[in-house]
Order: sequence, then C-alpha cells, then structure tokens
Amino acid sequence: MPANFYAQWRARCGVVSVLREDHESPPPEHLLQAIWQHQRLLREQLRTLDGKIVRVLHPGFANHEAGPDFRGAIVQIDDEPPRAGDVEVDLHSSGWRTHHHEGNPTFQNVILHVIWDSARPAAGKIPTLPLRRLLDAPIVELSAWLSREGAAVLPENLLGQCSAPLRGLADSKLTELLHQSAQVRWQSKAAQFQARARQVGWEQSFWEGLFRALGYKQNVWPMQTLAELRPRWVQAKVSPFTLQARLFGISGLLPVELTRAQAASDSYLRRIWDDWWRERDGFSDCILPRELWRFHGLRPANHPQRRLALAAHWLATGNILAKLEKWFTTELNASPTGLLGSLLKILQVERDDFWSWHWTFRSARLKKPQPLLGAARVTDLAVNVILPWFWARAAEGKNEQLQQVAGQRYFAWPSAEENALLRLARQRLLGGPLPRRRDALRGAAAQQGLLQIVRDFCDHSNAVCANCQFPELVREWNSAE
Ligand code: SF4
Repeated sequence: MPANFYAQWRARCGVVSVLREDHESPPPEHLLQAIWQHQRLLREQLRTLDGKIVRVLHPGFANHEAGPDFRGAIVQIDDEPPRAGDVEVDLHSSGWRTHHHEGNPTFQNVILHVIWDSARPAAGKIPTLPLRRLLDAPIVELSAWLSREGAAVLPENLLGQCSAPLRGLADSKLTELLHQSAQVRWQSKAAQFQARARQVGWEQSFWEGLFRALGYKQNVWPMQTLAELRPRWVQAKVSPFTLQARLFGISGLLPVELTRAQAASDSYLRRIWDDWWRERDGFSDCILPRELWRFHGLRPANHPQRRLALAAHWLATGNILAKLEKWFTTELNASPTGLLGSLLKILQVERDDFWSWHWTFRSARLKKPQPLLGAARVTDLAVNVILPWFWARAAEGKNEQLQQVAGQRYFAWPSAEENALLRLARQRLLGGPLPRRRDALRGAAAQQGLLQIVRDFCDHSNAVCANCQFPELVREWNSAE
C-alpha cells in the first residue's frame, strides 16, 4: 500500500521508529524481542550456532520484571524431548556475560539464548539461536510493523485456548464468570485474615495485611516481617519522625553514608540517625538484613523507604483504624468514586517535610511535592486488604449486614491501575484490549476475577495450555444455560 499522508505524518513525528536497512548495525533490542514474541521468523529453518534444529512450540510470555526476557517458553532442540523454560534475548552472544546473566539465579531456567548475530555462543551449555538471517521480512518492514498496534497484542496463535469460548460469552455472562472467580479470591483473602486474627488479633492482622500490600510483589516478606514485629516498635503518642527512624533502622534500609551532594537529604538522614542511635541497641536482635529487599523494577514512588515513611504517619495518628471503621459503617449511599475519594482522604498524608519532596533517601529534591499515596494504590489496599478484612471480621461476628456492605463495595469498586500481570491475562484470555468488552471488564472485581483464573488454571498449565480444563468448563457452562 502506498504510504498516505497520515502515515507520513507518523514517520515525520517519530511515532514510527524508522530503521534503515543497514546490514552492519543490529536492530534495537526491543525490536528483536518483538520479532521473537510474534515469531516473525522462518520458523522451519531455525538452527543454533552449532547447527542443531530448533522448534519453537511456544516463544514464552514477555517478562517486564527482573530476569530473562521471556518466561514459560517451550522449545525442542534436535530430537530431544521438548523443554519448558525461559528465553533471553540479547543482540550479541557476549551480552550473556556483559549483562551479568552468568551465575545470576534468576537466569538459571534459561533454555535458549536468542541473539541477533555472533560467531560464537557465550551462554555456557545453553543453545544459542541467531536470528539475523531468519527474519520473515526485511528488518525495515518489521520495524514499521512494530510501531503499529499489531505488535502490541498477542498473535492469534499465542492466545490461550480459553479465549475462543470466552469470546463466545455475552458481556453479562463474562462479568458473571469474572465476579464468581473474584468472589473466590475475596473469600480466600478473608479466610487468611480470619486465620491470622485468631492468632494475633484483628488489629494486628489488619496491619500485617496493609504492610504486605505496601511491599508489592517484590517486598511482601520483609514488609510482613516488619509488621509481625509491630508490637515491639509501635508506640502511642510518638511523632511520625520517631516512627520513621525506628522503621528505617529495623528494616535495614537506613543508608550509612551521606550523599554529600544534597544538603536536605543529608540533614534529614543525620536527624534520623540521631534518633536511631539512641534506640538501636534495643532492637539489635531484630534488624533485617538489607539483602532481604528487592529494588529491581520498582517505580521510585513504590520504593520501600517511601512506603515505610507513609506507614509511620498512619501509625503515629493512632486512630487510623477508627477512621476506617467510621468510613465503613457510614457513607452507605456513596457512589464507588465517592468511596474511593473518601478512603483516599483518610489514608493520604497531608505533607511530610522530607518524603513529599523525595522518592528515596538519595534522590534529588523534586520540583513539585508528590503525594505519599495515590488513588491507584488506594484501590489495591481497598480490594486486597481493607474490604476483605472488614468482611472477615463481620463474618466472625455474624454480622450479615456489614458483610453485605463489604461485598457491595468490593463488587462496585472502580478498576485498579493495570499492571503487567493483568495486561498479559487480558491479552491471553480475552485476546487484547477488546474495546467492545469494556463494560464486561469494568471494575476492580472483574480484574481480580481474571487474576484468580490465572492462578487457578494458567499457573497449573503451561504456555500451550496443556491439560487445562478451563476452556471446556466455560463451553459447558455457556451451553447449559
Ligand atoms: S492455561 Fe487455561 S486458563 Fe490459562 S490461557 Fe490456557 S486455557 Fe486459558
């Protein structure tokens, strides 16, 4: 097709990444990754550097976190049995060493090293597959294709086997299915709170849940451990600053050196150390090692130092739980967005002299103050901690009315911010953005339902959906009614 004027606009404005057909320089790595994901290759001709035939039964799923570029691939080399594992994509085989993959435990399941071109393998015994001479179209054409939406969704043959029966469901039935699985997820969270509350009491179980949620995926365990230690470090009528010093000290996240470049950071750090020195001996048996924390792939706003600073404010008020109780038992007629707003108001911290202006101890002062908590995180706290906790406590007290309130709020809560896991689940199960299904997927509960299906079915199967019963269950359910 001749390029129309709109296509030219895109190229001129840099929307399209224009690549020259240059036989010497390699393409950008993200293009090589897209080529691999969509298998824009002469798939029958794939050979490792040492000449072995490679059959790609599944290229795996793009990994947006630390570790190899693709997880869960299935590959057969020569006539060996097919193997499931990870795939790393680098421009050159030397990338294996220069990017320090060697000896890195997150790379120990790599079964194939995909490269643009190199004469020699570098990933030890891992087969190395060069792609340079095996593209199914010129690299310029592939580059243009990458800039169109086609590359942003999973190719049809990589969709889950359930995507066809799910597409056959009417919107109302899809919502019903997602809400049913969300209910299972909700009940299992509530059961966890109930079990923990029996051991440590409702208030402590609540704080443990909040801390876990503040840890995101990367730091759930150190946050849980800190929360378990709460009876030792919490204290009535202390300032947020004192609690911050204590939490930073116990967590092992307190830097030992000044930046010597940022006066405000160094002054705050000195004052924190002045407080912590006095208390340190009393907590010396429970200080966490810094190695317990993971920072890779974390947004600056989610850094655990910043999250602990926020928690210190909550705990210093001494009445946050009472405020939440009031929020839960009043505002019964508020709209979902109204509820989100009023919850944000309770959990938001007015201003912190240091943390409103800095992402971490070492980061430069921000131009504008940033809130310590945003609406997206409040939704996560609501659906994962606050509402299941209230529901579980109401269930323990046999208060059906309050159980209903918690349930109604959960199922009406606005959607959470999308993350890599949700995006993949939506693409794999439902075949992409599906604007026409927006209504069926609206709300945090539908997202939770999707995640529960992934946990129940995808996590027990593999990239080609082997032995997964979910598609058949959906078909039967749809035809039975
Ligand atoms: S494993 Fe099952 S639930 Fe997951 S995508 Fe495949 S068919 Fe769907």
